[in-house]
Amino acid sequence: MAERSGTKDPAALRQESDLAVRMEGVGKWYGDFHALKDIDLEVRNGERIVICGPSGSGKSTLIRCLNQLEAIQQGRIFVDGIELTAGGGNIDAIRQEVGMVFQQFNLFPHMTVLQNCTLAPMKVRGVARAEAEATARKYLERVRIPEQAEKYPAQLSGGQQQRVAIARALCMNPRLMLFDEPTSALDPEMVKEVLDTMIDLAQEGMTMICVTHEMGFARGVADRVIFMDEGEIVEVAPPETFFENPGHERTRTFLGQIAH
Ligand code: ADP
Repeated sequence: MAERSGTKDPAALRQESDLAVRMEGVGKWYGDFHALKDIDLEVRNGERIVICGPSGSGKSTLIRCLNQLEAIQQGRIFVDGIELTAGGGNIDAIRQEVGMVFQQFNLFPHMTVLQNCTLAPMKVRGVARAEAEATARKYLERVRIPEQAEKYPAQLSGGQQQRVAIARALCMNPRLMLFDEPTSALDPEMVKEVLDTMIDLAQEGMTMICVTHEMGFARGVADRVIFMDEGEIVEVAPPETFFENPGHERTRTFLGQIAH
């Protein structure tokens, strides 16, 4: 397979691959602190992955490495067949392919919902305003808040803001969606509406990697659950095995500490 770099066109960079993500021997340090240790992971197109584990185990770092919000010091990462670590234009190409939803929504407060959703498609992809707005309204409909398009983020509830953040990511037509604890900052009554949106996406076949403590979501939606501890992937298993018959003591201890 040819591995090309130096161009920003994702299609030109992509190798033929059924894999949405391939991580090989990935190591990540923050200064002296070894945050990711020899991570190997393959995610197929259309797969739904949930990553769980104790606070500080490296879950967020792992998915942040997938769209180069964090640089790695060891190993190789391929996203959608494009090698991230090759440098050059690949980083921009990947950012167009990967949608990310954060715990704290990260909407632009001085822009309306519609403007939040049209900014990147217009600026990064060069989409015309009318088309970008039509796409934004389509995805706002999909996350069930079309009536909020002209409002500013501060006028919305947390659950609504997070659904805007999901719609905003979808407007870039990503091939992979990353979620970093998307419901952790929400009041309990708003968790369900965001999870329902994520379930809809999963049912439409979107490839998803979700860091979440929502074990009900993991049981119901994930194809595989990954358990991390101290920068390592300790266990990867389908949910039924993961919850009913985990293979590792550290997984059992973790599951014993949380309600699931
Ligand atoms: P998790 O998502 O599992 O809670 P993180 O990936 O956020 O864990 O963090 C893993 C470890 O790396 C933690 O010990 C955290 O303190 C550390 N860490 C995360 N980000 C940074 C950073 N920017 N600088 C230094 N240490 C960091």
